[in-house]
Amino acid sequence: MRLSKYLLPTLKELPADADTVSAKLMLRAGLIRKVAAGLYEWLPFGLRVLKKVEQIIREEMDRAGGQEVWLPIVQPKELWEETGRWQVYGKELLRIKDRKDTEFCLAPTAEEVITDLVRREVRSYRELPLLLYQFGIKFRDEIRPRFGVMRAREFYMKDAYSFHADDADLEKTYKEVYDAYVRICERCGFKFRPVEAATGAIGGRFSHEFMVLAETGEETIATCDVCGYAANIELAESTAFGSKKGEPLQALGEVDTPDCWTVEDVSKLLKIPKIKFIKTLFYDTDQGPVVALMRGDHELNEAKLQRHLGAKWIQKASDETYRSVAHCEVGYAGPVGLSARVVADWNVATVENGVTGANKKDKHLVNVNLERDYTLAPESFGDLRMVREGDPCTRCFRKNTEKPTFHKLAFHKGIEVGHVFKLGTKYSESMSAGFLTEKGTKSPFVMGCYGIGVSRIVAAAIEQCHDDNGILWPAPLAPFQVIVLPLNVSEPNVMAAAEKIYSELRSRGVEALLDDRDQRAGVKFKDADLLGIPWRVTVGEKKLAGGCVELKSRSASASEDAPVEEAADRVLKKITP
Ligand code: ATP
Ligand code: MG
Repeated sequence: MRLSKYLLPTLKELPADADTVSAKLMLRAGLIRKVAAGLYEWLPFGLRVLKKVEQIIREEMDRAGGQEVWLPIVQPKELWEETGRWQVYGKELLRIKDRKDTEFCLAPTAEEVITDLVRREVRSYRELPLLLYQFGIKFRDEIRPRFGVMRAREFYMKDAYSFHADDADLEKTYKEVYDAYVRICERCGFKFRPVEAATGAIGGRFSHEFMVLAETGEETIATCDVCGYAANIELAESTAFGSKKGEPLQALGEVDTPDCWTVEDVSKLLKIPKIKFIKTLFYDTDQGPVVALMRGDHELNEAKLQRHLGAKWIQKASDETYRSVAHCEVGYAGPVGLSARVVADWNVATVENGVTGANKKDKHLVNVNLERDYTLAPESFGDLRMVREGDPCTRCFRKNTEKPTFHKLAFHKGIEVGHVFKLGTKYSESMSAGFLTEKGTKSPFVMGCYGIGVSRIVAAAIEQCHDDNGILWPAPLAPFQVIVLPLNVSEPNVMAAAEKIYSELRSRGVEALLDDRDQRAGVKFKDADLLGIPWRVTVGEKKLAGGCVELKSRSASASEDAPVEEAADRVLKKITP
């Protein structure tokens, strides 16, 4: 490709509203342009990268036994009503009407459509298992589109769905797709971790996310370097490792805490550490109001609370719920005198002579003890808190119950690029999608689903591979392998040598770009660095006088000279793995 004819508009200035390195570089290097919030155009240079990622994913999905299909992006409301998701999906689902006023949505995902296809076309256990995948545009009306194409509203995804006769068979395919995702991440050159993850709106019982490690990642993952445990902090396990010290029980007392209700403020006022506090948190749930007790220095993990309760949904209680359950001002509730449904984090049981709200405005209780003072003992205890960096790893602990050794959890930031789920029969049951078993009885499909963000991967690659001057493409994703850079295009010798090398490379199947623009050398070098093409061949008058050109890798500072005749050969050797 000749740069003079190529739609590759590079920008010198930093785009004002680009909020991450990858978004800035994708705009500056002419991969994308923004049309509106969360909506992007992919220009030829960017699309080449996207297609490379797509091809890597396709090869690995085929290797895992997948069959490619194409599903519509406009999906009928009726299918979404069958699973109840038309109601529960919320505002991320863009709902539209056709000319007959029939309602549809733009696909944010395709469980309903694919389950409908398979229930119509698959009859017998003999046709199972089935792994179907597609590449397609997804639309999610994200509340805050950001980070360029990383969290866009319209984006490009590979989604896959598998159908099985039983759990054991799902397990097998799940592992195969998991392995395919590992290979995809490796081939993209990522530093990454697969981590255990929550299931969220897609539902199901179990999932793993593929996290590309990057400082700018939105997700936090907890890992143990000793046993290899890795989980999204939404899920990461923590249990009570502390125990009671056996303090003598002090007399329960009430103290004045005017205008203080947060643990922070009351702790300062009373000069009692937060670890001695019990927080009383109120939730509205589909099962009615629930009170969750946490130790004062701990953070409640809502996903854990929801799982603990087995609730369909939970949300922080309204002030009305709070007042009607606690019969006091918001902020002053506590377990003494409280008659409500109460659950507690394990660590609550270890608090001796604790501090809680007194269920009266501007009052707190001190020396509260669970066995002696709580009006109702919690109906259950569980792991309800967010893990903290440095917490002991529960998996190592479990393996070593004889002689407990605690390895510390480390936190990392990550970008979620892929997600694999075991759905079980959640969708097949609600959509009556089943098959005939060997015995001739009807049974619902056991399903898995597997998504990977193609466009997000492009941004994640840049997030991981760049320097101050621009992108550093990992070779498998690079849109071109070599840029040939004649320093002075009006010099016939220079241009002739550059053309010769360029056409030799192309005839040998190398993706090469020729910077034949009539620009200053400085501009060309800057652009070459910005574009991040792995190899550069510079053709200048000085070296050419001695019959040579210069070869340089984008990621190294050193360069080498090569005779014009050998240049293409040498480049080929360097780029062939
Ligand atoms: P997130 O938690 O980041 O919103 P998700 O859990 O909603 O992701 P999935 O439904 O599992 O994502 O979708 C599969 C993949 O699609 C994700 O791993 C990610 O790579 C990609 N993806 C999801 N939402 C977006 C988005 N708004 N923009 C770009 N890619 C996305
Ligand atoms: Mg999402």
